[in-house]
Amino acid sequence: MNGFPSGFVGHGSPMNALGGDTAAAWAAWGDALDTPAGILMVSAHFEARPPTLSSTSGAPLVYDFWGFPDEMYRQSYEPPVAPGVAALVEKAFGSATVRRDEDRGLDHGAWVPLMHMFPDADVPVVQLSIPWTEDPEEMLAMGRSLAPLRTEGVFVVGSGNIVHNLRRVDWEDGGSVVSWAQEFDGWVAETAADGRAGQLSRYREHPLARVSHPTQEHFVPLLVAAGAADGAEVSFPVTGFELGSISARAVQFGSVE
Ligand code: ZN
Repeated sequence: MNGFPSGFVGHGSPMNALGGDTAAAWAAWGDALDTPAGILMVSAHFEARPPTLSSTSGAPLVYDFWGFPDEMYRQSYEPPVAPGVAALVEKAFGSATVRRDEDRGLDHGAWVPLMHMFPDADVPVVQLSIPWTEDPEEMLAMGRSLAPLRTEGVFVVGSGNIVHNLRRVDWEDGGSVVSWAQEFDGWVAETAADGRAGQLSRYREHPLARVSHPTQEHFVPLLVAAGAADGAEVSFPVTGFELGSISARAVQFGSVE
């Protein structure tokens, strides 16, 4: 048994909470998956070292965006808490330290995609922090250590964007996509599809890595997902771009059995 697929979601703008093309594609992806036993979400928006688990006792959602329409701050998503998934993470990490932060709820990198993928909010969810992002190899290794969760039916999901440079976005979203973003997105897709997870973790050697990711936090959740299902068949449930350069691409590692 290979276990539940792992995944990477390109969460893009928080406004995806309200619907649109990306949200519709997430809903279709959720429909195509079996219902997992639980979800472990590794979002770009939760950085803490040592690796830290979010609340397993029901902390409120985190509205980690500013200056958005009022209705954005009234969005809700209340899945069951996931102490069982948290315990599996602690077991998977063995003697390595994992902290818990009972005050930390789900951030928008987690709840915005999940409210479309699993709209019934009936799957328990917990987040695991990215333990800062200086070392992509460490993130790949972290993913590998989480592989046993998949055999327990847990959906290990990274949430970021394959291209993410907020200084280069087209806030008017005129519809055209810059070529460097397409090129880097294409390189990542091809490398992932070829099963070269080690190459993905050395992505900073790519000449377009710096413009695609001035900082690493939106890329490295992909490495967690890749590590958790190393060698699995790769597919892309969502493709495309938002705001002229933000990649909406989602990656699924492994197939539904
Ligand atoms: Zn983000």
